[in-house]
Amino acid sequence: MPKARAVLFDFGDTLFGRAGAHRAIVEAAAGLGVEVDETTARNLWAEIQARARTPEELAKGRDLSPEAHRACWTALYSRLDVVVAGLGADLYELEIDPLGWEPFPDAGATLVALRTAGVPVGVVSDTGWDIRPVFAAHGLAHLVGTFALSCEHGVAKPATRLFEAACDGLGVAPAETLMVGDNPLTDGGAVEAGLTAYILPPALDSEARGLEAVLRLVDVDVDSARRPN
Ligand SMILES: [Mg+2]
Repeated sequence: MPKARAVLFDFGDTLFGRAGAHRAIVEAAAGLGVEVDETTARNLWAEIQARARTPEELAKGRDLSPEAHRACWTALYSRLDVVVAGLGADLYELEIDPLGWEPFPDAGATLVALRTAGVPVGVVSDTGWDIRPVFAAHGLAHLVGTFALSCEHGVAKPATRLFEAACDGLGVAPAETLMVGDNPLTDGGAVEAGLTAYILPPALDSEARGLEAVLRLVDVDVDSARRPN
């Protein structure tokens, strides 16, 4: 394709990851007066995340409304109540806490470079809660021109409507827009909407995400975009 003139990003595991992940279990349990060792916390975290990705869980539509999100994730995190009563509820509050998420090390620089180059940026996310405060909490909100969130549109990726809404929000055509995500099944739906998709490999803890590669796929002079002005 010709180089893109606008970029849409997925949120989870693309621009942001969960801060601490299993460490949140250790810390929340300590807050309730119970000590949990790292291995137990890591195993519980992995078990919950694996269950969250099963077809049965995904079919519940947890990202279609705040109520469904709270109900589904509270049930998933209730597994932690075997450690101490109330731990599951505490983990859900962290799930929707803007400071419970961290941008990947190259997320901010990439968004700034795109802004500097005048490339419009949007976020398209399957989420059951408003993630705008996450961007605000990390000083990145002004770099995003539009948000298309599943819980506000009542439909989740890969439905084309979310990608079309984001393109409309930026005033750009799908054919000139790049979608960047980490899930071929959901983010890949952008292709059906007429965009081009760039799918990242699975995220590893606190490593650069490979987002700077996006700058080579857009219609800008990369060196001048990186130069601070
Ligand atoms: Mg994702």
